[in-house]
Amino acid sequence: MTNAIATTRPEGDEDMFAALVAQPADALLGLIALYRDDQRTAKIDLGVGVFRTDDGRTPVMRAVKAAEKRLIHEQTSKSYLGAEGDVAYTDLLGEVVLGPEMARSDRITGVQTPGGTGALRLGAELLKRARPNATVWIGTPTWPNHGPIFIEAGMAVRAHRFYDVASATIDFDAMLEDLERAAAGDIVLFHGCCHNPTGAALSMQQWQAIADLCAERNLLPLIDLAYQGLGDDLEGDAAATRFLFAKLPSAILAYSCDKNFGLYRERVGALWVQAPSPASIAVVRGNMLSLARSLWSMPPDHGAAIVRTILGSPVLRDDWMSELAEMRGRINLLRSALAAAHPDLAFIGDQRGMFAMLPIGADAVVAMRRNSGIYMAGNGRINIAGLTVQNIPAFVAGLTPHLCNRMPMHDG
Ligand code: PMP
Repeated sequence: MTNAIATTRPEGDEDMFAALVAQPADALLGLIALYRDDQRTAKIDLGVGVFRTDDGRTPVMRAVKAAEKRLIHEQTSKSYLGAEGDVAYTDLLGEVVLGPEMARSDRITGVQTPGGTGALRLGAELLKRARPNATVWIGTPTWPNHGPIFIEAGMAVRAHRFYDVASATIDFDAMLEDLERAAAGDIVLFHGCCHNPTGAALSMQQWQAIADLCAERNLLPLIDLAYQGLGDDLEGDAAATRFLFAKLPSAILAYSCDKNFGLYRERVGALWVQAPSPASIAVVRGNMLSLARSLWSMPPDHGAAIVRTILGSPVLRDDWMSELAEMRGRINLLRSALAAAHPDLAFIGDQRGMFAMLPIGADAVVAMRRNSGIYMAGNGRINIAGLTVQNIPAFVAGLTPHLCNRMPMHDG
């Protein structure tokens, strides 16, 4: 019956949606289904980018659970907040990200956003108003959502070279050469730390050269900081962001708390902008708020209230920082173990964050899935946190036939 109703088409009815083009399904979500349906017990999931414990869980952090309990007792209203979201959240988080002094600058303003994605989208919409004819330069490879976010907001996007997968190194000269083509007033997107998907980190000398380039050519840096605390430590992972904000009159920061507080589905982020003067930043803030009104009216409250509760309590803050240090310790331990397991993986030990790109082709990715039950993104990106010290040998055994330099054979 249902089918009969669905297929009956009233006469003269036109398909109002005929102009839409079918879209490919999200590749990583498809991978989740494939992994779930795989019956092999020794399968390894290195696909989706979430932190995992040694037993494969993505837990709610202790401080988050404690903050949620407090909120249940202490929250007296769920009435509307403004388009800026939870101001105490943005103020407390601003100190963690920018440091206490810079966070108080009268040339910097921040608002809460739905996740890092919301921060990037709000930043893109702001740029569309402020610099409608500018180009956003994005390094390759990058998080696959970067391009679409700016394109959907109506910005022109161009790629610049960043990382050479085969040699597992940042091609800094090529990056600078490409950015020489940027016009004054263009925007350059940077990963503040823990680059997704490569894990490759720029040195402070390279950030210095980038700051000089931005100053000379009048380029606006937009920093995406989605993994603070999961690389070196909270301070070290914010160093490049703080450096660019200190060196340049204007800068934008899109921030996510979804990884470092394990709040993924709660959608917790923030957008900060620095302008050359207090008068200018007041106008910027007014525009951020009016854009947020039309995008989501106001951001979801719960996750930001959790972060505000944690950062506002010395006890919860300490516990959050020590659990974050445990998470980082696990990732970096796995990095060292991978680097020691095969000479072709040595580069992984020096990189930071949850991801690395394996120097293998798309056919090898498929072969590893079929032959060894090892799941990863189609471009060879692995989520390091999906490994365990115990399954690294099985992972390396599945990978080795696809690497250029095979492991030396044992004598006899
Ligand atoms: N930027 C980068 C580099 C990311 O990897 C991610 C998440 N995968 C985001 C932004 C978006 O984070 P969120 O889930 O908070 O929207």
